[in-house]
Amino acid sequence: EKTIQRIAAGEVVERPASVVKELFENSLDADATRISVAVDAGGVEGVRIRDDGVGMSEDDLELAVREHTTSKIGDIEDLEAGVGTLGFRGEALHTIGAVSRLTIRSKPRGGDVGTELQYEGGEVESIRPAGCPEGTVVEVDDLFYNTPARRKFLKTTATEFDHVNAVVTHYALANPDVAVSLEHDDREVFATEGRGDLQSTVLSVYGREVAESMVPVDRDAPGVSVSGLVSHPETTRSTRDYLSTFVNDRYVTDRVLREAVLDAYGGQLDADRYPFAVLFVEVAPDAVDVNVHPRKMEVRWDDETGVKRDVTEAVEDALLSNGL
Ligand code: ADP
Ligand code: MG
Repeated sequence: EKTIQRIAAGEVVERPASVVKELFENSLDADATRISVAVDAGGVEGVRIRDDGVGMSEDDLELAVREHTTSKIGDIEDLEAGVGTLGFRGEALHTIGAVSRLTIRSKPRGGDVGTELQYEGGEVESIRPAGCPEGTVVEVDDLFYNTPARRKFLKTTATEFDHVNAVVTHYALANPDVAVSLEHDDREVFATEGRGDLQSTVLSVYGREVAESMVPVDRDAPGVSVSGLVSHPETTRSTRDYLSTFVNDRYVTDRVLREAVLDAYGGQLDADRYPFAVLFVEVAPDAVDVNVHPRKMEVRWDDETGVKRDVTEAVEDALLSNGL
């Protein structure tokens, strides 16, 4: 049974970045206003996420690591209506715990005792009272220590960290009202203030030069609204990793949106250069299928041509009205 558990875990938890994604979503679901992520050796040796969210009691904690348990589905109607919270499978903590050494410390908001739970290879090792601030700290150490075959698939520390950085960056950009920080091997990579505006979030994440080169996009077409920031055509990078698009607040990698943005720049970009963009596209839920593949972050549009045209026009307007 353990083996089956570990194989199943590999389907969900591919690398440190997938752990970070699941834990970050849990912190957002817990209504956190501050989320700090610290990883060691690209996340392979350790991932630690601290939040100031609603926290958990001792009973909540025991339930949280159990298989198929979630506090997030009221009934089947919630599922049919499309679940509002990010996670709803009730599998992440249990699954991560099956392939790592997991420690959770948590104290409910307004509660007076905290609890520490240790979980290893799929079993609760200990659970006891512990002094801790309100909110939750989840530590995941030695990922895949008991699944050497999977551990072998991990890339270099630098590559694994790049994936972690991308995940935390996208969540930070999508949640400007949450103060998000990221540390790698005890060095701060970035920290946002959680003031609520995208401009100051971009400044914290990408630095002053990039932030000052960005102009606002804001367009409400019938059925499609587009907002965010795009950079001056000379502020570019040689990878498209800085062209971030979100559909109904969820990060996606989508060829249609990427081409729409690039088209708006016309011939202004040098060969193989990509602008910075943080673009939020809002459409009616039935105009897009976001469940094409849970891990690939791709979407399928009902009206690809229409969306592409609206996004290109929105970005063109932004560039033109700023004399770019
Ligand atoms: P899911 O998020 O799909 O419900 P998880 O395995 O990710 O499943 O989490 C299980 C449960 O543990 C959640 O439903 C929630 O009640 C609790 N939980 C997990 N992380 C946190 C957190 N950071 N703060 C408060 N509660 C949490
Ligand atoms: Mg979850």
